[in-house]
Amino acid sequence: MSELKQLAVELAQIVGDYHVLSSDVDLSLYESDAETLDRAKPDLVVLPGSTEELSEVLKLANRYKVPFTPRGAGTGLSGGATAIMGGISIAMTRMNRVLKIDPEERMAHVQVGVPNLSVSKAAEAFGLYFAPDPSSQVASTIGGNLAENAGGAHCLKYGMTTSHVLGVKFVLPNGDVTTLGGAFRDSLSLDLLGVLVGSEGTLGIATEAYLRLTPRVEGVQTLLAYFDSLESGGEAVSEIIAAGIIPAAMEMIDRLSFGCVEESWHLGLNLDAGALLIVELDGPPAIIKMQRENVERIISAKGSIETKWAADEKERALIWKARKSAFAALGRLAPHAYVLDGVIPRSKLKEAIVSIDLIGKKYGVIVSNIYHAGDGNLHPALLYDRSKEEEVKNVLIASREILELCVHLGGTLSGEHGIGIEKLLEMPVAFTDSDLEAMARLKRSFNPLDLCNPGKLIPSPKSCGESGRRPLLRYQIIAC
Ligand SMILES: Cc1cc2nc3c(=O)[nH]c(=O)nc-3n(C[C@H](O)[C@H](O)[C@H](O)COP(=O)(O)OP(=O)(O)OC[C@H]3O[C@@H](n4cnc5c(N)ncnc54)[C@H](O)[C@@H]3O)c2cc1C
Repeated sequence: MSELKQLAVELAQIVGDYHVLSSDVDLSLYESDAETLDRAKPDLVVLPGSTEELSEVLKLANRYKVPFTPRGAGTGLSGGATAIMGGISIAMTRMNRVLKIDPEERMAHVQVGVPNLSVSKAAEAFGLYFAPDPSSQVASTIGGNLAENAGGAHCLKYGMTTSHVLGVKFVLPNGDVTTLGGAFRDSLSLDLLGVLVGSEGTLGIATEAYLRLTPRVEGVQTLLAYFDSLESGGEAVSEIIAAGIIPAAMEMIDRLSFGCVEESWHLGLNLDAGALLIVELDGPPAIIKMQRENVERIISAKGSIETKWAADEKERALIWKARKSAFAALGRLAPHAYVLDGVIPRSKLKEAIVSIDLIGKKYGVIVSNIYHAGDGNLHPALLYDRSKEEEVKNVLIASREILELCVHLGGTLSGEHGIGIEKLLEMPVAFTDSDLEAMARLKRSFNPLDLCNPGKLIPSPKSCGESGRRPLLRYQIIAC
């Protein structure tokens, strides 16, 4: 019996036959996350049902010296869950229960395979919700959110995932089980919980999380404002923040993107406009009233061509549908989208918008723009066809220029999607060699054999093309 077959047999003894996948068709379903340019099939997929099972699986992987890659729903946009060295893809989606909602402590105890939105649904009856709201929240799991320190439209005001995690139970790469933090915020000693959140599955695999819940706000008002261009919308965004207003959310979409949304959903969007800005205000009515007057004054001064406040919850939901379905609607234009995640200082929004447009034109790449504008987190989506080598090449070169632009404007490579494999080679643009070595040392202290999600997040001298028997398309097409 081959070593792989023997491993599969022993894995099945831990998790059961049904939860070890090895057929070609099954493995194809796990060959990438939502960053579909990079693909690599794992050798096996395992779905553990408990922390104890996961611990045994990792001990076995160590015995066989086989790499393993944690995976939630696979909605990641930086290739983090792609098993680029092969080995075992460990899908956490069976561990999907909300274990407890504690309304007094405003805390949810969950298994990490639960989708983000399910936590808020479980807490709804108590007037509470889980505030981080990635647009993928119907599907993306709490484990994936923790690993990427996910953000979302309302993280402008309420903070990223890391601000809402009280504790995590996780399995170290050698199979040992530990808990960092707990049901209450514990700020004693080194902040290892802070290290874990955002570590992209390279330090171990989370199995349970204690999450902070947030009370629902008293009132919400949502504005849809149209501008003739992204630039003038961008100026309004900078001005609103400069005026000391922190909206709950402030999101901008270009004409190309909301044109696709309109064709898909017929929401009645104004197709004569060049940009659509969503501003959401929340809090006590007196504060909202004051902020609303200021926002109206600013967007009118910046040349808004049409504004509309949502009259009720139904209209508000439609406005958010325009934003949250925008990436999916781009499928009307091209079979693939390479979604970037650069961050820039808000004051540089206009400059960034103009430069990204020029970079797209220089390489003949269609770029759609969907921005968490309020916190300067840009998601230019570069549209392409993966079967056309020249298009892939232009997308990779243009995306590198856009990321470098963000760093040169004083920003950084990623706001919420993580580095994964997608931005690995750009890390030295944002960090010095000694920064990267400090990160590598920290990673080695958790993951000394580099079996847990190898080849991600921190570049090594071998990074270019480092993917074992599975050479990634990007490295076949462009030089590092
Ligand atoms: C349409 C669309 C919209 C999106 N919008 C947003 C957005 O608004 N904000 C945002 O932040 N992101 C967004 N994303 C990206 C993605 O949804 C997030 O990164 C999300 O957190 C990934 O969760 P997942 O369960 O799909 O994780 P996966 O993609 O499966 O994995 C992501 C990373 O987490 C690691 N991982 C997964 N589970 C665990 C675990 N239990 N323990 C340790 N590591 C683990 C994986 O190894 C990988 O590195 C969007 C994606 C799509 C497709």
